[in-house]
Order: sequence, then C-alpha cells, then structure tokens
Amino acid sequence: MSVAELLKNLIDLQILDKDIYDMKKWISEMPARLNALDDEMEAASSKSKEKDDELKRLQLKRKERELDLEQKENNIKKLQSQLYQVKTNKEYNALEHEISGFEADKSVLEEDILSIFDLIETAEKALEEAKKELEDEEKKIEIEKKKIEDEKKETDKSLSELDGKRKNITPLIDKKMLSRYERILSGKEGVALVPVVGENCGGCFMNLPPQIIDEIRLKKRVMACERCARILYAEEEK
Ligand SMILES: [Zn+2]
Repeated sequence: MSVAELLKNLIDLQILDKDIYDMKKWISEMPARLNALDDEMEAASSKSKEKDDELKRLQLKRKERELDLEQKENNIKKLQSQLYQVKTNKEYNALEHEISGFEADKSVLEEDILSIFDLIETAEKALEEAKKELEDEEKKIEIEKKKIEDEKKETDKSLSELDGKRKNITPLIDKKMLSRYERILSGKEGVALVPVVGENCGGCFMNLPPQIIDEIRLKKRVMACERCARILYAEEEK
C-alpha cells in the first residue's frame, strides 16, 4: 500500500477515534458529574434540616417559658390566698411585696413569650421556603440525572456504531503502523494524526523545517513530529 493510501485510511480512522476518545472521556467523567449532583442535593437537604432544627429549638424555648409562667401564676395564687390568713400588717406587706415580685417576673416572661412567637413565625416561613427549595432541587436533580443516563445510553450506542466502522478500516492498515498509531493515540488524548497547519505541527504547533514539510507533501514515507511524535500529513491544496 502506498503512503498516500495509508495516510488516507489513517485520516478516516482518526476521525472516528477522536469521537470515540471524546465519548469515552465523557463516560469516564460521568460518576463525578453524578456525585456533584448528589452534593447539591445534600446541601439543600441540610439547609432544610437546619431550619427545622431552629424551629424546634424555638418551640422548646417557648414551652419552657410557658411552664415558667405557669409556675409564677401558681405562686401568685398561693400567696394571694395566704393574704387572708395573715395576722399583721407587716406580714401582709411582705406577702404583697413577694406577689409583686412574681408579677414582675410574669410580665417579663409574657413579653419574652410574645417575642418567641414572632421568631417562631419567621422560622416557620424560613422552613417552608427551605422545603420548597429542596423540592425544586430534587426535581431539578432528578431531571439532570435522567438526562445524563439517557445521554450515556446514546453514547454507548454511538460507541458501538463507531467501533463497527472502525473495524472496517483497521484491516486495511499495516499492523505495525496501526499499533504505532494506537500507541500515540492513547498517549496524546485521542489525536495521533494531525495535518500540517501553515508551517507547524497541527498537534503541538511546533514549527516544522521546510524540508520536512516537503517530505510530508511528497508522501514517500510516513513522517512524524519530532516533538509530539504525532503522524503528520499535508492537507490537499485547494
Ligand atoms: Zn507535534
């Protein structure tokens, strides 16, 4: 087989192999893509959990204050009933003083409870929003995962088609040359064969000496770039 024919077959093969390389790369990056979606989901769900915890904390605080309030009210009632049993003015005044102390505590607690109610209202809204966001996020992620999985199926299908086409070309290429080409392919991100671009290697863009470019045009032998080892060909003059 002439070098010109060999190069023609290699060009056909390279077109397929670039696509195959890109598809395989896409598949290899799939787990990372799915993991990133899981992380997004995790973040949304922990935000919602945080809001839920905050609401529960406030509800508990309110409950504690209400129990405190009840305690103060009981104390006041008890003291008030004692007012009728005291014998002296001094005892009466002491009781009144104690009652007014509890009354003061009571009004502090009542204000506190009211402000906690406000906080609870805000926390409930925040939780509702976080839950809504979580729901939206879940839907969005489900759709994206489905998209990735569908694309994976499509890619697998395309890969087997490309592999079929590849099998039609490889028998036409000298075994030694094919294994050289494949070695470069795997080491050079799926590009083993490049055109000369201007006066440069189309792979690494090293400047090529004029006599090398001439030899590539002559197609007497297979030429490779000294720097990146890729096989070079001259694009047909237009
Ligand atoms: Zn090069």
